[in-house]
Amino acid sequence: MKPVGPIPAGFAGPSRLMVGGVDFAELLERAGDTPAFLYDGAALAARVARLRAALPEAVRVHYAIKANPHRDVLAAMAGMVDGLDVASGGELAMALAVKPAAAISFAGPGKRDDELAAAITAGATLHVESEGEADRALAVGDRLGRTPRIAVRVNPDFELRGSGMRMGGRASPFGIDAARVPALVKRLVAVGADWHGFHIFAGSQTLDSAAISEAQAATLALAERLAEEAGAVPAFINLGGGFGIPYFAGDTPVDVEGVGQALGEALARRRAVLAETGFAVELGRWLVGEAGVYCTRVVDVKESGGETFVVVDGGLHHQLAASGNFGTVVRRNYPVAVAERMDAAPVMTASVVGCLCTPLDRLADRVALPAVAVGDTIVLFQAGAYGATASPAAFLGHPPARELFVAKDG
Ligand SMILES: *Cc1c(COP(=O)(O)O)cnc(C)c1O
Repeated sequence: MKPVGPIPAGFAGPSRLMVGGVDFAELLERAGDTPAFLYDGAALAARVARLRAALPEAVRVHYAIKANPHRDVLAAMAGMVDGLDVASGGELAMALAVKPAAAISFAGPGKRDDELAAAITAGATLHVESEGEADRALAVGDRLGRTPRIAVRVNPDFELRGSGMRMGGRASPFGIDAARVPALVKRLVAVGADWHGFHIFAGSQTLDSAAISEAQAATLALAERLAEEAGAVPAFINLGGGFGIPYFAGDTPVDVEGVGQALGEALARRRAVLAETGFAVELGRWLVGEAGVYCTRVVDVKESGGETFVVVDGGLHHQLAASGNFGTVVRRNYPVAVAERMDAAPVMTASVVGCLCTPLDRLADRVALPAVAVGDTIVLFQAGAYGATASPAAFLGHPPARELFVAKDG
């Protein structure tokens, strides 16, 4: 038997899965069928409120919409956060439908000229990822007769310790190496671009609170140095994010209150060049990941080679991350339960496998489960971020997952 990650609080009714205080069976009926993602609107609101209470008041909260761009999730988040961070022309259009352009920033490598033009026309902030992209943005701005608002994404010369995905301190397709940034900023200012500041993103999915605080302090120090070398005062600094959520056995949550306090102290010590600068953190996973579950129905229970396989109607085509094939090196088990019997004692060891014809489609590997029968519902937790839109939905021709947003009032 292998361990599973911790089930997040707020989902267990007396014995059955509840989402936003509503029994899962009713929600699946509303959604139409399994497989389905269920998103808890009240949990999203609680998360944003907790982050705001933890952070210094001057630090704005941005939502990186690639974590979950579902229409209702995005609308709810847009109403609660200060800014939206997008990473494609498609996401830009979605964000513009729910937030003013001044609150939208567009990062990501490989922006096409038509995407640059859409952002410049709307008035969103472009986070340029190279000198070449900065030149293209200026040229597109000239052609449109508009001054582009440009922040420079910096490839920092340090990295976020304990990060699932490192994005700093080495060769990177993201951002411009720190040493070359002052020259670019000088040039942007000289040609009359609306230079908006820096975007410094050091990594993703870390649970190490001290490492996050260290990275934030290093980010401020780097921004001070770059601004002084460029001889220009940044209006705004996006400090990145990187807050993870506990997926696996032994994982513990980020101490956001501690991180907020340390950030307050670091900001209080900042040098004069950043005195008038505005700040934001950008988070995706931490804001929405715990608020979503993936429900999938048992189609078959079979034995082979002395092992039990619970075969479900969903799979990695909807929830790739739970199969261990999205950003993890070693496959480990996400938190999993039987929705009809959340409090029942385990009676067997079984693997939960999806309906795809590939051995990769294993949603839980040799976990302890209560009695499971055909027609029962398996629930995978921590499915609110990088689920439906981060999975190969077209693979093997199964229908997409249903997605249901449970509003705060049920
Ligand atoms: C993906 C991404 C994020 C969000 O990362 P999470 O781990 O979901 O918080 C934030 N900023 C940038 C630049 C990103 O690419």
